[in-house]
Amino acid sequence: MTTETTSATLKPETKPEKSDFIRTAIRDDLASGRYTYVRTRFPPEPNGYLHIGHAKAMYVDFEIAREFGGTCNLRFDDTNPVKEEQEYVDAIIEDVRWLGYEWDGLYFASDYFEQLYEFAVKLIKKGKAYVCDLSPEELREYRGTLTTPGRESPWRNRSVEENLELFERMRRGEFPEGSRTLRAKIDMASGNINLRDPVMYRILYTPHHRTGTKWCIYPTYDFAHGQCDSIEGITHSLCSLEYEDHRPLYEWFLRELEIFEPRQIEFARLKLSYTVLSKRKLIQLVQGGYVRGWDDPRMPTLRGLRRRGYTPSAIRDFCARIGIAKADSLVDIALLEHCLREELNKTAPRVMAVLRPLRVVIENYPEGQVEWLEAINNPEDPSAGTRQVPFSRVLYIEQEDFMENPPPKFYRLAPGREVRLRYGYFIKCEEVVKDAEGNVVELRCTYDPATRGGNAPDGRKVKATIHWVSAAHALPIEVRLYNHLFTRANMEDLEEGENFLDYLNPNSLEVVQAYAEPSVAGAPVGKHYQFERLGYFVVDPDSTPEKLVFNRAVTLKDEWAKIKQQME
Ligand code: ATP
Ligand code: MG
Repeated sequence: MTTETTSATLKPETKPEKSDFIRTAIRDDLASGRYTYVRTRFPPEPNGYLHIGHAKAMYVDFEIAREFGGTCNLRFDDTNPVKEEQEYVDAIIEDVRWLGYEWDGLYFASDYFEQLYEFAVKLIKKGKAYVCDLSPEELREYRGTLTTPGRESPWRNRSVEENLELFERMRRGEFPEGSRTLRAKIDMASGNINLRDPVMYRILYTPHHRTGTKWCIYPTYDFAHGQCDSIEGITHSLCSLEYEDHRPLYEWFLRELEIFEPRQIEFARLKLSYTVLSKRKLIQLVQGGYVRGWDDPRMPTLRGLRRRGYTPSAIRDFCARIGIAKADSLVDIALLEHCLREELNKTAPRVMAVLRPLRVVIENYPEGQVEWLEAINNPEDPSAGTRQVPFSRVLYIEQEDFMENPPPKFYRLAPGREVRLRYGYFIKCEEVVKDAEGNVVELRCTYDPATRGGNAPDGRKVKATIHWVSAAHALPIEVRLYNHLFTRANMEDLEEGENFLDYLNPNSLEVVQAYAEPSVAGAPVGKHYQFERLGYFVVDPDSTPEKLVFNRAVTLKDEWAKIKQQME
């Protein structure tokens, strides 16, 4: 058994009380005495990696429990051996911890298989469940549709004795897969299809990642979930909206079994613009080779986000800001980016790096001379101090920061024009060198030694400050620039017959060979920087001792601030 218990480490909330329909419902339940404590659970199925939608669910489950001085369990919903694997269990445990959540108890639905079997027997004995011999196709056909009632199974009125015997023989492995099911006897004419004698158990000979071949019958989600909640004394079973129609069934089982009744409350699923959030689709992206793996920095998985440079606190902040609503809505991914940007603005050291280098030779600067200029590590955090950046005769600047024929509002470098080098001097472009095809390959400049530190003693002004690196000291780095994985904002409302893969962005990744100032040498994987004027970057695990690889986590341009302004 890998079950372990850890105590909750997060301190109770001290912030003013938040309010939404779930918190209100819980407050009411405590006030009325329906429950005397609060216990929630986060119930992932180990059939894939956790994504940002799960982060929202975790936020709701863990934070609400904590706010009410309660506890939250991590429970794996491992009732379908066909799709589940130990690898996913391990990854999910790691990802929950990474996000900063500690569970009270760690459980598996498979821990309760014996107990669930006993519950099923109890329902058979009450005449509330029966063994049905319809094939999966027949089951579907008998179920009816939203507009037509279902038909009763010819096996619905078997005697309790016969049902008990057949159910036991199902467990012993006497029948082939798909030949029989155990069904709840409810109402084939119900307007809610979930109540039309739903399947409780099916036969599956696939070995289970935890129980091996001990079982060949497995409870369905519907029969397992509420009963597991009940066994664990969960008070509030918080889940996403698609389970709303299952709630009457959830309640029916608990009532018929006469066991502790948790309360299921549904909230809106997170939908994020330019993103798909379904494990089924994410698997297709990985298996089809459209991304490099589950942790590709373009993936909305927690692993992808982590590699992209997202921090657990930025993700939790995002979850707090989107709040808990009853109706689905599309959240702008710019808000997620905004949360990361806001955090990294406070914490990430600034350095200079040049993504598309253009060589600059300062002709009046002495050959072989190097000056170490003082640079501020983080203007938002004086305690981050300063560092020394080398300055010499040959530099790289950004190609974009020069134009031979500048339009009116371009204030950066141009022939005959002076700009400020960050932390350094004013330089003036004297001559443009081109190759045979006419491409600009080098600028010959002069500098004004009196402007060291960035100001001219005679008070003359320049209109732009640009970043740079000293060519002789520059560290070659690889930089991976990411864009949205999809070109369409709302990936959730595709027309019939449309394939989400049709909206893949062919330009979601651009790799450039760049240069950084030498201070970044030896930076560990996961270390964040702001590359001045370019964005926030993080060291990727593909880095080698010879070459650092950086992912752009987020640009400096704040789309969300713009959106917010427009809304106000
Ligand atoms: P997917 O559709 O991506 O496979 P799922 O709902 O099948 O997701 P589970 O592992 O069953 O994945 O989900 C665990 C919990 O996370 C459930 O309570 C589910 O409601 C919740 N959850 C999953 N996706 C989202 C989402 N996009 N927003 C909010 N909660 C979610
Ligand atoms: Mg699910």
